[in-house]
Amino acid sequence: MLAQPDRPGVTVSREMSDPKNLHVLPQMNAASRQTVSRLLSPGDPDPVIVQNEGGSSSHVLVCDHAGREIPARLGRLGVAEPDLERHIAWDIGAGGLASKLSVALDACLVRQVYSRLVIDCNRWPGQGDLVPPISDGTPVPANASLTARDVQDRIDAIHSPYHARIAAVLDDRASEPRPATVVSVHSFTPAMNGADRPWHVGVLHGGDSPLSRRMLTMLMAEDGLVVGDNQPYALCETDYTVPRHAQGRGLDYLELEVRQDLIADEAGQARMAALLTKMLQA
Ligand SMILES: [Zn+2]
Repeated sequence: MLAQPDRPGVTVSREMSDPKNLHVLPQMNAASRQTVSRLLSPGDPDPVIVQNEGGSSSHVLVCDHAGREIPARLGRLGVAEPDLERHIAWDIGAGGLASKLSVALDACLVRQVYSRLVIDCNRWPGQGDLVPPISDGTPVPANASLTARDVQDRIDAIHSPYHARIAAVLDDRASEPRPATVVSVHSFTPAMNGADRPWHVGVLHGGDSPLSRRMLTMLMAEDGLVVGDNQPYALCETDYTVPRHAQGRGLDYLELEVRQDLIADEAGQARMAALLTKMLQA
């Protein structure tokens, strides 16, 4: 892994074809410690992993909710350990799926390492649920009475370096002849608020994305696959990553939601990655 001292809080990995490597997180380097020491300690991992940065694909993969690390200074956020393994802490299976897509497509992947209970990297700074005091009914005591400074520390240490890294990758692509598309990978729960969610995958878009339309057509043609068009969520103004990095640059995009039970294990991730790879290469 190569640390980039000019981009604090970021570790770059060009060779992460073995998904098991993703469980070995790089610790903070000296440059990172200097800039983000208000929240992160020397034993904490860097907030961003970049996989296959020089990949040949036009797709740039991003995974906002891939990780569930918590900075040592925050303890366990006051949340019981079993809850920290649930969807409230991360998108179950999304990081593994995105990693397999990165390998299969030969595409760059930028993934967040920390839990969205620490800070949600798909929310705008200033938004109420950026640092959620409660998530799907589960209180997060460590987020209950934060000062503006506390929230800013989380932005500085985790949210900003992640989005700066995505921006840097896309800046680099802007000088290349190949077009760049942003592919954002998430997962969702099979049920929410007592209601079952029948979809296997969902495509979230603002009606402005040719790639999303193409993917919807291909996914809906797949036998036995239940596809949500802006389900279980619609792309909306509360989203941050796609509006900022894709729509904000005029780039095409795909915001994909996959039901978590389909990608909870490596076999499921491999099946879904194979299906999506075929379509994303079409
Ligand atoms: Zn997500």
